[in-house]
Amino acid sequence: MLELKPLFDDINPNNPLIIAGPCSAETEEQVLSTARQLAAYGIKIFRAGIWKPRTKPGGFEGIGAEGLEWLKKVKEETGMKVATEVANKIHVQQALEAGVDLIWIGARTSANPFAMQEIADALAEIGRDIPVLIKNPVNPDIELWIGAIQRLYNAGFHRLGAIHRGFSAYGKHLYRNLPQWHIPIELRRRLPELPIICDPSHIGGKRELIAPLAQQAYDMGFDGLIIESHCNPDCAWSDKDQQLTPDILNVILNTLVVRNEKTTTENLSMLRQQIDEADNELLEILNKRMRICREIGQYKKEHGMTVLQSGRYDQIMHSRVKLAQDMGMSPDFMKVVLSSIHEESVRQQLEIFKHKA
Ligand code: PEP
Ligand code: MN
Repeated sequence: MLELKPLFDDINPNNPLIIAGPCSAETEEQVLSTARQLAAYGIKIFRAGIWKPRTKPGGFEGIGAEGLEWLKKVKEETGMKVATEVANKIHVQQALEAGVDLIWIGARTSANPFAMQEIADALAEIGRDIPVLIKNPVNPDIELWIGAIQRLYNAGFHRLGAIHRGFSAYGKHLYRNLPQWHIPIELRRRLPELPIICDPSHIGGKRELIAPLAQQAYDMGFDGLIIESHCNPDCAWSDKDQQLTPDILNVILNTLVVRNEKTTTENLSMLRQQIDEADNELLEILNKRMRICREIGQYKKEHGMTVLQSGRYDQIMHSRVKLAQDMGMSPDFMKVVLSSIHEESVRQQLEIFKHKA
């Protein structure tokens, strides 16, 4: 159980937290023009990457400390809070020195426990009670994500939040980074007090995916959004395909439906009760299936047969997947369910092979 403080004392934690701004700070004019437009639409926290982790050398690796001066101007001129990414001790020192109000840890950094410890130590040395958001590591490893959060918590930082930005995968996909929603859901289960913010820009990688992803995040009870916005996205020096103009961002934010997960109507309680009952039935049926499997295991053992009979498994897979599909379920879902059930059946049969006479 983490004992957390709100990210900011002067921002209501019950409203979605919205952070917007360009992927990278490029020029003073680009930063200020974007910030002015966002501030006019009521955005309270401005993001801009100053140091950019790039997959390969040769791309734009961020403007560096010079850009921190532009963030100072954004604060002075618009009154917005400013946020940037840090990946090492020097970034931490320079960002805090420049009066940055919130820092986030990028996905490549949260995957690296040495870097995380260095950042946590550097922050502790400075001792300012700054809010920190930790992006999920690039690889889908929830323990690594929680570990990164714990390093900051153990260093005394209690204004923490997580950012779900999707997970990288080999090959071409609809999404730039696969959402794998079950991972942030598991994070919510493990650390219920930790705010989780969604980054639809880095999940989607394309402008048209941002609104549906943001709505999905709200529907799933996320606590806010961090969205890339640029005054002239087509000319952006990094991530140009996923940045929105402040005008478009404003339209999207105004059309999103914010859900309140705490409202439980009577109807919802009744439906939940039905879910509980359905789950109990599901368990009973699974238990019955396992019992039959153990009987089969006993039979196979007595007749010198092997546990695995692959033709049978194939046939089960095909017929059940087809049935599930006819009922409106996704074939991939049914394959995962069946392969887990099969794995457990095999395990139980092997137990019989090992132990019983
Ligand atoms: C970013 O926010 O611009 C960024 C580099 O994100 P990530 O670490 O999620 O790739
Ligand atoms: Mn980016």
